[in-house]
Amino acid sequence: MTWVRDDRADWQILDVTGRDPADSTSARHWVQDRIAAFGEEHRIDALLVAGELLENAYQHAGGPAQVRLRLRHAPCEITVAVADTGSGVPRLRIPDDGGGRGLVLVDRICSSWGVSHHDDGKLVWARVGCEGTGFPCPAPGDGRS
Ligand SMILES: [Zn+2]
Repeated sequence: MTWVRDDRADWQILDVTGRDPADSTSARHWVQDRIAAFGEEHRIDALLVAGELLENAYQHAGGPAQVRLRLRHAPCEITVAVADTGSGVPRLRIPDDGGGRGLVLVDRICSSWGVSHHDDGKLVWARVGCEGTGFPCPAPGDGRS
């Protein structure tokens, strides 16, 4: 894909091929494995956000093409991005019977999020921090568990 312009080396990338929402389980596990060193609260938030971005891609864009992760420790920050080949613009929507708190939830949890469009689709990204939540992660290597 052509949407990587900045610091590509910072990102871990998972290619997703399936179009079945059940496939999101393995994508979620991939994220979970990579953020294992973060604090529990931070991991929970990041996984919630990853799940919502994935669900959004399956429901509205024919499924995700890639999941990307960027991990930072100072400040402590997990950026999750889901690329798809759809052209629609994700919108904040009111939760309804169709399920999915969707981007309302993402908006509440994330310090920032956004969408970038590219020739071959779009990338929805969300930055999840933990400073100021009351549950900051232990610094890497400080021995607390
Ligand atoms: Zn953290």
